[in-house]
Amino acid sequence: LPPGAPLRAEARIDLDAIRANTRRVGQIVAESGAGVMAVVKADAYGHGAVPCARAAKQAGAAWLGTALPEEALELRAAGLTGPILAWLHPAGGPWDELIAREIDVTAYAPWVLDEITAASLRVGVPARVQLKADTGLGRGGTQPHDWLELVELAAKAEAAGQVRITGVWSHFACADEPGHPSIRSQLDVFHRALAVADHAGLHPEVRHIANSPALLSLPEAHFDLVRAGLALYGLSPLPDTTSADFGLRPAMTLAARVALVKNAPANHGVSYGHIYHTARATTLALVPLGYADGLPRNSSNVGEVLIGGRRHRVAGRMAMDQFVVDLDDPAAIADVRVGDEVVVFGPGDRGEPTAEDWARATGTLNYEIVTRIGPRVPRVYV
Ligand code: PLP
Repeated sequence: LPPGAPLRAEARIDLDAIRANTRRVGQIVAESGAGVMAVVKADAYGHGAVPCARAAKQAGAAWLGTALPEEALELRAAGLTGPILAWLHPAGGPWDELIAREIDVTAYAPWVLDEITAASLRVGVPARVQLKADTGLGRGGTQPHDWLELVELAAKAEAAGQVRITGVWSHFACADEPGHPSIRSQLDVFHRALAVADHAGLHPEVRHIANSPALLSLPEAHFDLVRAGLALYGLSPLPDTTSADFGLRPAMTLAARVALVKNAPANHGVSYGHIYHTARATTLALVPLGYADGLPRNSSNVGEVLIGGRRHRVAGRMAMDQFVVDLDDPAAIADVRVGDEVVVFGPGDRGEPTAEDWARATGTLNYEIVTRIGPRVPRVYV
């Protein structure tokens, strides 16, 4: 760890990697003439929203995207200019503040558009509104049978100068399974939704549907803008692929320092529940990170870390604040010292596991591994 870094642990965020990944995504979609929206919701998937948003914008992302309105407001408060889209509004907005800060809001049902229009009249500024179609995800968005109603309402509000319809968009259900029949069907429904909007006289600045797996695997889905999350953080969203396959570099390295080293005899029970016993006399090292910091509890006995250039497995239960690794060598006490670096995951080029490895070992997605790293772990920007 760099001198002066906190003793316990840190998530090191490589902003050059974020910039390079943003440029890479920009290159991939440039042929389609599409722009890039950097999706920085959930604190930029655990990487830190404001620094990552700045880095992505420096590297050419024209748009920023967040789920929650407060995430969008945080970006504006930090001085980020240019278009920002928020898409998951609790009832009630907070529309006035979003409109005043020129944040694009998402109307995902006619009643939402009514709330936005009323807020526009209060604020005295037309809201920038994007209409969201449910083309088959079956989550947010307006379904085809209500789409015409939403579009007509939007056209009327725009003609009255109450709102500006800046975008029409949707989201895939199975983009991470290339060839899944729902992808084609969603594209067809999206094209029809766009035609209905066009027919009603709506001419939005941006039409968009692609997330990272779609932008990497389906140029037909690029439209005017791609909403890139995972790819910007350098992780692959497609099965049986790695970041390097797409020219991406993982941006987060999670590292800690060894807190204690001690010898243990053979058949020594380790951590809660004694689900691990040492096979022989050995050295154990204590790592001060746990499930309160976001490491999955089911990494017990399966997660791996790098200490002193060698991989070691989590020995026994992952606890709330700490876990143990078995260095598998009684002499290791001389080589591994308190304060030594433990790399939990990173880009993988020093032999450390990747977030992908942790996801595979614990039966989840790389999305979850990085996003759940908690606020107790300081982010250090390199
Ligand atoms: N668009 C929407 C609506 C999302 O919810 C997300 C994230 O889940 C994204 C885009 C970005 O997805 P990805 O991280 O796969 O690029």
